[in-house]
Amino acid sequence: MIGARAELNDLLDQAAEMGEYVLECRDVGHIWKDWTVARLRHGFEQTMRCSQCGTERVRFIDPEGYIDSSHYRYPDGYLVHGLGRLTVDHRAALRLELLQRSA
Ligand SMILES: [Zn+2]
Repeated sequence: MIGARAELNDLLDQAAEMGEYVLECRDVGHIWKDWTVARLRHGFEQTMRCSQCGTERVRFIDPEGYIDSSHYRYPDGYLVHGLGRLTVDHRAALRLELLQRSA
């Protein structure tokens, strides 16, 4: 178990390598623009793509329009490795990285 300070330093090292578009999507949210749909035997598979970072959101939708399940496919360089679910502090650090680069 590494301490919170070490975790934050690890995150900052990774954040320095992230594209600004990745930091922006993480902070503000994805821009779901393009999507495709395939008809399945029992419903539909819809794939949406973020026009900014390339993350894909795949949704399986039943014949009545309800969402059965969904998952994401992330592009290289999007995920933070080794930290599990990001905390409020982690998200603040990523936000600050973007703002400092942009100001
Ligand atoms: Zn995105």
